[in-house]
Amino acid sequence: QVEEERRAAHLPAVTLDARRVEVCANVGSPDEAEMAAQAGADGIGLLRSEFLFLERSAAPGEDDQAHEYQASMRALGGKPVIVRTLDIGADKQLPYLPLPAVANPALGVRGVRLWQRLPQLLETQLRALLRVEPLGSLRIMLPMVSEVSELVAVRRHLDSVAQELGLTVRPQLGVMVEVPSAALCAASLAEEADFLSIGTNDLTQYTLAMDREDPDLAARADVLHPAVLKLVQATVEGAAGRCPVGVCGAAAGDPLASLVLVALGVDELSVEPARVPAVKAAVRRLDAGRLAAELPALLGLTDAAAVRARLTSWQTAQQ
Ligand code: PEP
Ligand code: MG
Repeated sequence: QVEEERRAAHLPAVTLDARRVEVCANVGSPDEAEMAAQAGADGIGLLRSEFLFLERSAAPGEDDQAHEYQASMRALGGKPVIVRTLDIGADKQLPYLPLPAVANPALGVRGVRLWQRLPQLLETQLRALLRVEPLGSLRIMLPMVSEVSELVAVRRHLDSVAQELGLTVRPQLGVMVEVPSAALCAASLAEEADFLSIGTNDLTQYTLAMDREDPDLAARADVLHPAVLKLVQATVEGAAGRCPVGVCGAAAGDPLASLVLVALGVDELSVEPARVPAVKAAVRRLDAGRLAAELPALLGLTDAAAVRARLTSWQTAQQ
């Protein structure tokens, strides 16, 4: 059965009620991109570019970066590759880019906000990204966006660099939805973005005000909390078909949560490369419309444990 799953992973994943769901992979290096391609991923849904900046004494230059991005693009052979711009701050730090100590780093200058402080870093990364081929398969994604002005500013910058380089093709530019304000204002983001991708790890942390690293809260910091699910729903409804909505947090690979995400209307799930075959198989067994009919009841429950329990009995009843 596992062998069958592995072979079928190279085919599109379609639900029982004919909804196509892209199943992509989260990667942190060209080697992992290779694994994703071998596992049957429909693309890279999240390339965490931090890997390039770690374990070195200075930030990588434009040539080094372009070379690494190109290697991941090559591994995927023309399938879409979403590269997230540097997401540093809070849980992710670099010794050569010391950020001033602040009381609440998770709420401080991190992700896309970093570009006001270190604009040269963005400039170099954008220039490196604009050198990859084919540009039509590249998607650039901004982390920790909390309002549309941040996207507009980067779009303007990207356009001016592309124009200076004489490029006629532009890569798609999208944003992560990992802050409640982004989910609630998804309509304005979708007007300007080519795609949205929900980062459920941070979205859960910021919605529940529970540190994602705190072991004492790990059991309760669950994406299936009705409040988090309502924000996923708000994102899909806000996008209203104007641009695709994916999920690249760990929830996309969670056997129960992934089903709910599809029922809520997300178009793409991005998971660890090794999970691609199992997630595609689960999508094929799902009647998304039937689970969607359960959503009002699920969203009306009081906590994540109740949602998990109800989903488990729903799933058993389906078999
Ligand atoms: C997320 O927050 O869900 C996400 C995918 O980004 P990271 O885990 O790198 O913060
Ligand atoms: Mg995140």
